[in-house]
Amino acid sequence: MEYISTRGYKNHITASSAIVSGIAPDGGLFVPRCIPVLSQNEIIGLYKKNFQDIAFFIIKKFIPDIENEDLKKCISQAYNSKSFDNPLICPLRPLTDSILMLELWHGPTCAFKDIALQLLPRLLTVSAKNLGDESTFVILAATSGDTGKAALEGFKDVPKTKVVVFFPQDGVSDIQKSQMVTQEGNNVHVIGVNGNFDHAQSGVKEIFADKELLNTLAAKNMKLSSANSINWGRLLPQIVYYFSSYMALLKSSHIKFGDKINVCIPTGNFGNIMAGYYAKKMGLPINKLIIATNQNDVLARFVKTGVYDASKDLKTTISPSMDILVSSNLERLLFEASGHDSEKVLELMNSLKQNRSYKVDKEIFSFIREDFYADYATEKSTLKSIKNVFRNYKYVVDPHTAVGLHVYNKYVKKTEDHTLTIIASTASPYKFNRSVINALNKKAQSFENKDEFELLNILSATTKTLVPKPLKHLASKPVLHNTVCEKDEMKKVLEKILE
Ligand SMILES: *Cc1c(COP(=O)(O)O)cnc(C)c1O
Repeated sequence: MEYISTRGYKNHITASSAIVSGIAPDGGLFVPRCIPVLSQNEIIGLYKKNFQDIAFFIIKKFIPDIENEDLKKCISQAYNSKSFDNPLICPLRPLTDSILMLELWHGPTCAFKDIALQLLPRLLTVSAKNLGDESTFVILAATSGDTGKAALEGFKDVPKTKVVVFFPQDGVSDIQKSQMVTQEGNNVHVIGVNGNFDHAQSGVKEIFADKELLNTLAAKNMKLSSANSINWGRLLPQIVYYFSSYMALLKSSHIKFGDKINVCIPTGNFGNIMAGYYAKKMGLPINKLIIATNQNDVLARFVKTGVYDASKDLKTTISPSMDILVSSNLERLLFEASGHDSEKVLELMNSLKQNRSYKVDKEIFSFIREDFYADYATEKSTLKSIKNVFRNYKYVVDPHTAVGLHVYNKYVKKTEDHTLTIIASTASPYKFNRSVINALNKKAQSFENKDEFELLNILSATTKTLVPKPLKHLASKPVLHNTVCEKDEMKKVLEKILE
């Protein structure tokens, strides 16, 4: 199995190299040269397997160069009863006869990024071992909340890695901050930056571009790496739950083998839904892939018009993990849609860089519309969706998931397609409890002076659901990280850590 860059980098490389490199030398993303197509028998063969065994089967198809025993170990260390509070790892929860929620938040940080970030560090170290690369990987991240914590949990105590996370001191929620500063592990570093997310992010970008620093690190056998979603090793684990979900639907007799299902995904950086697309191309019977965005509706407009226009201002919403203008993983779809035309992809990406926009040609446009549908939710309809779902089904969703539900309803109204649909539930409602309580309570203002830790219990009492374990004892956990730096001191702080 060979990997190639979406932008035409001439070398074909192995999966291990793609995972260790992260991004291609030409700035493109690594993708498999051929997507492995499963036979009917292979798909039926997954029926009796548990999540971990399905993961092994699917992932092995894409990284044959990792030894079976190594891969099995990676998977069992990532997905187990210590890290996930549900034995199915990604369970389905029926909402109606034709809607099932795919709960992707049973991991250690209560959000969907855990599925990939529990496995990526392990794939990274095994890949490095395969390549004879003895480096220590320094994972550097600026975070506005979710990714940083998921990276810390994923990489903690993984040999030959260190994680350094910078977060904006005043730009994350109380719960998010508390999750990070109480992080345990012998290789983790968490630093608050006096500034906003953009400051933290530009600081990290400057460090990555600092040749002198990179050379100093190389001399110490260290390599900087990132945990963001352009790495193939982060996208790959997400293909698994589409297969495990289909098997669960067969087991519960919701479908017969071969029946098509729709999937609806709250989308930001296009990683989750791109994994669904790969699952479809591998032969899983998926009909439509429904993209749900919040008010930052660049993707929704793209699928409607063929014009990707990222020139609008970014809006801050109650579904912050989807506040994105440039969805990096869309480049992988453009590559498939253009028939692997890397010159075309490069041209579009250059236009995006120079003009903040591009327009795709007719062939690419109709290719994408064949498989995808897209729409958006306003803030108001997101809140309404949280309220309605709870009223009608006694089920609590977080704002990201509510965006998915709203867009799904729009889709059904418009198309009258009642195909059985899986909607990804991407975060625990407890993680975004203030918005959820505002949506559920008429007298929301009476909660304004409560802090988020008190709100955990209030949400629990209101909805008669349990606070997830990782959040429950957060307030009483000792603070282990209290370094705060100015935005122009980030490099200095990093150098000190790596001394
Ligand atoms: C990251 C994230 C998303 C968006 O997923 P992408 O793969 O970036 O499209 C949606 N919801 C939550 C809660 C997230 O953390």
